[in-house]
Amino acid sequence: MHQVKSAVRIEICGVVQGVGFRPFVFQLAKRYGFMGEVLNTPQGVTLILEGDPEKIDLCCREIRENCPPLATVSSIQAQKIEVTGYDAFRIVTSTAVDATRSALIPPDVCVCQDCLDEMNDPGNRRFGYPFINCTNCGPRYTIIQDVPYDRAKTSMSVFPMCPGCQKEYDDPENRRFHAQPNACERCGPRVVLVDNQGVSLDAGDPIQAAGRLLNQGAIVGVKGLGGFHLAANAFDPTAVETLRTRKNRPHKPFALMARDLESIKPYVKISGPEQELLTSLHRPIVLLEKHEAPGCDLVPLPRALSFNNPRLGVMLPYTPLHHLLLDTGPGILVMTSGNRSGEPLSIDNDDALDAFADIADYFVLHNRDIYFRADDSIVQHQEGTRFLRRSRGYAPLPVTLKKKFPPILACGGGLKSTVCLVKENRAFLSQHIGDLDNQKTFTFYKKSVKHLKTILDIAPGIVAHDLHPGYMSTAFAGDQKGVETVGVQHHHAHAVSCMAENGLEEEVIAITLDGTGLGSDGTIWGGEILTCTEARFERQAHLVQVPMPGSDSAVKEPWRMGISWLYHAMGADVVDLDIPFVRGIDPSKIAFLTQMMDKGLNSPMTSSCGRLFDAMAAIVGIRSRVSYEGQAAMELEAVSGTLPEKGYGVEMATQESGMITMDFSPCIRRVVADLGRGETLSTMGGRFHRAVVQSFVEAATLVKARTRISKAVLSGGVFNNRIILNGISVGLEQRGFTVYTHTQVPCGDGGISLGQAVIAGAMK
Ligand code: ZN
Ligand code: ZN
Ligand code: FE
Repeated sequence: MHQVKSAVRIEICGVVQGVGFRPFVFQLAKRYGFMGEVLNTPQGVTLILEGDPEKIDLCCREIRENCPPLATVSSIQAQKIEVTGYDAFRIVTSTAVDATRSALIPPDVCVCQDCLDEMNDPGNRRFGYPFINCTNCGPRYTIIQDVPYDRAKTSMSVFPMCPGCQKEYDDPENRRFHAQPNACERCGPRVVLVDNQGVSLDAGDPIQAAGRLLNQGAIVGVKGLGGFHLAANAFDPTAVETLRTRKNRPHKPFALMARDLESIKPYVKISGPEQELLTSLHRPIVLLEKHEAPGCDLVPLPRALSFNNPRLGVMLPYTPLHHLLLDTGPGILVMTSGNRSGEPLSIDNDDALDAFADIADYFVLHNRDIYFRADDSIVQHQEGTRFLRRSRGYAPLPVTLKKKFPPILACGGGLKSTVCLVKENRAFLSQHIGDLDNQKTFTFYKKSVKHLKTILDIAPGIVAHDLHPGYMSTAFAGDQKGVETVGVQHHHAHAVSCMAENGLEEEVIAITLDGTGLGSDGTIWGGEILTCTEARFERQAHLVQVPMPGSDSAVKEPWRMGISWLYHAMGADVVDLDIPFVRGIDPSKIAFLTQMMDKGLNSPMTSSCGRLFDAMAAIVGIRSRVSYEGQAAMELEAVSGTLPEKGYGVEMATQESGMITMDFSPCIRRVVADLGRGETLSTMGGRFHRAVVQSFVEAATLVKARTRISKAVLSGGVFNNRIILNGISVGLEQRGFTVYTHTQVPCGDGGISLGQAVIAGAMK
């Protein structure tokens, strides 16, 4: 007698394509004795099961609980259907797509241990093959051109599988079943080693040869997952210096890639959570504290890797090619982004050869195209993951929002740009795009918007942008046809991005501290306390405004802000101040600057906290000119000791309008006095940090008293400063605040597109 059968159709949404989900379901169906089919659909995965009705629930639970490592199931909906009498369980290949596309595309992930074991096994047919992958690992986002995610829609489409690979791909029992980038030496992409003229070198195994060249001090351009790296032996001071000179990057720290934890452990401290980040599937660059005195029997790492910085940015290998390279070459490599200063990462062989012929001596190239570039992500751990850059390995994973919105595009800011596309309750942030003033970066920006619209199938009717008319992203928003555009104030966007990732909808007090953002009064803000909801904000407190003599050049030349703050605090006496900072500047230059400020010539007013840090760094003699953004402030943080009980004084005042202002003049005057007494940088830095913490905590407490709002969000790039993040968080908590910070998107401008999107959605 036939057993009673029933049938269900199950729709599964989430990150379920390209992550080994169908083979997983296939195995499950087999185990439970179900007939039916599974297929990728534009929404996710659809499953039809016919069999014992009692087992269906069990099977659904298992799908949720035991899904593959890379999969995230966001919803499972089951519906009873007619039994049609399947005679087997099959995986159906994808059909053309015309419905909506909401399947989530997985990020690129590091090579898995199973694949590494095969790669290192001389008996395996993929022994030493640098593109080994399986359904649990390998490239995804950077090779996908369209959804649904199938080989034909990736840059693997030009590599027809050999019979061996095809067999694995077709075999539901195999761990490469429907692994879209599946390949081997016979049929897949290949590596070549060329010199900087593009001439191929006949030196045996190209990766081993590259490793040997690195050992000898060469600089090698390496094509990776999301773009090119420039690699050098991290132990070789000459190679590191050469790379600095050739790349015209005098100070900015270089990221390192270490063969394994053991090779880097002697040089940096690694906490439990930091180790988890380093070894996670995302493989970000993790900022780690250097050991003060590494063992004397160790080969030292050159100081030039990261000047005036107590930390090193370290990542572990994430592609098979990296593993092979680090196995032959030095155990620690400099792996810095293969881009020209200000330009996006190179992804194309010819482009890289063209761009770096005078930087790299050799190139490790391959013929698997990178369809979509993605820089390495950068994180630090401080009571949670803090993103300095959210990119490869994380994009395009969405931030889940509390409610559903119509389709929105948010265009981001001007520096460290990202864009954000919102579809229903999901906010998809692009990978890091960069500074849009550069033409090539802007081209990449436009491509990113187009690409994300395609793979997410979004036609946004609302386009959010920054208020700054000079940003390329603002101009881009204006060029969009048939959409409603919404201008969003920069710091409101910062605040709401923090609200959004914390699921807050009620009114909050926002402390937003950054370098530059156009205020709604036309001046430059950056040291602000707002009260805000998603739809509106009110400015409650801010740093007093001082001029930025020379406007943008004041950002690159902190000495200008030093003079501005000294002039503000001490008046015309500044020229005669007997401190090294002032003595080091030609008096006529100072006079010129003060005249400029008096007349208001090219001296926009700013309440920027970032510029206050610049001023402080300049005055105490840390740095007068920077070669990368945030350098002076970072170096000031680096020399500052722990927060003292008492900091420098700050003058707080409440204006008639109710606006609270914080004037750092007393602080600046005390710094001058401390300099005269020969105080240490560490002491002065600590007192300054305490002053910033104290003044904002005090002001926020005043705002709390008059508004009865006790939830606080912290946002803006200054919160990358660990002393400030911790100091303000603790201070606010002591005053009865509940404090919310960023752990999913950057606190800096890389996160504002999220806030812009939510604000635009709430305002409509
Ligand atoms: Zn694998
Ligand atoms: Zn093959
Ligand atoms: Fe900002």
